[in-house]
Amino acid sequence: MITFLSGGTGTPKLVRGAREHLPDENISVVVNTAEDLWISGNHLSPDIDTLMYLFSGQLDTGTWWGISGDSFLTHQELVRLGVDEYIGIGDQDRAVHIARGELLRKGYSLTRATKELCSRMGIRAAILPMTDETVTTLIRTPDGVIHYQEYWVKHRGNLPIEEVIRYSPTRPSATAEVLSAIHEADRVVIGPSNPVTSILPILECDGIIPALMDTFVIAVSPFIGESPVSGPAAELMKARGLTPDSRSTWLLYKEFCDIFVQDIRDPVAVPGSLRYDTLMTDTRKSAALAAMLFDQRSRVD
Ligand code: GDP
Repeated sequence: MITFLSGGTGTPKLVRGAREHLPDENISVVVNTAEDLWISGNHLSPDIDTLMYLFSGQLDTGTWWGISGDSFLTHQELVRLGVDEYIGIGDQDRAVHIARGELLRKGYSLTRATKELCSRMGIRAAILPMTDETVTTLIRTPDGVIHYQEYWVKHRGNLPIEEVIRYSPTRPSATAEVLSAIHEADRVVIGPSNPVTSILPILECDGIIPALMDTFVIAVSPFIGESPVSGPAAELMKARGLTPDSRSTWLLYKEFCDIFVQDIRDPVAVPGSLRYDTLMTDTRKSAALAAMLFDQRSRVD
């Protein structure tokens, strides 16, 4: 079994490639939930949704969020009625958020609600929220503290970041399901997801780092030079006092990472790293990168 640690774009592209080599039941994905929010009364879990839609064959792979061909009638009507729904939620996508909200209101944990929704969608991979506790990434801007989604979607990242805050009312722990998916994996792959908003929230859950120390871990960089392939990762790294590049990413993972992979075009030197074409512009390129990662052997093998 292969276990991925994932956000909602870079790692799902790699998971798409892994599916060309492995049956879905041999894939587990530990997913960031620090971007979750209740919106218009329903529960949006952006990274879990992307993975559920990927495995159920519904994902819009043009944007890496939402359901391909979805309509937006409810969203348009809500906006017309003056509701500040700043995320364009499709009608079918909203149905999933309503179903999840209902399960959570009934007292289901996020893990159990996700399992239930996956089973209703016929998904055979294990999609595992990193924790069942609430964790939220907030951004401090000169105008105040806002949810990460508000920073990235409503303001399109056009606000200075003074601080990245991880808010959680309780100290978050990895779930038992997550820890066994790491312990039972032949290897754990940290795909090229945003370090600050997608991977660090997972690493900050109690139990994750000790579990990774006992496992063969391969990580892929989301940076080429000082630019991410897409998204706001550079500004977020800078707000944490880090240079936005592969070397800083490797330093964040070094303690438990056995093999670090960076792009062949990346001018930044990382000691001992592997080089490969990591630009997953189509399924064939995702599959080639996944095959290379699966060929790596642990130093203790
Ligand atoms: P988010 O939840 O939507 O922020 O998605 P992730 O955190 O999973 O992924 C965002 C990161 O993926 C960005 O920092 C990008 O640089 C990286 N990324 C996206 N596509 C690729 C790709 O094809 N190759 C590499 N190496 N990185 C990618």
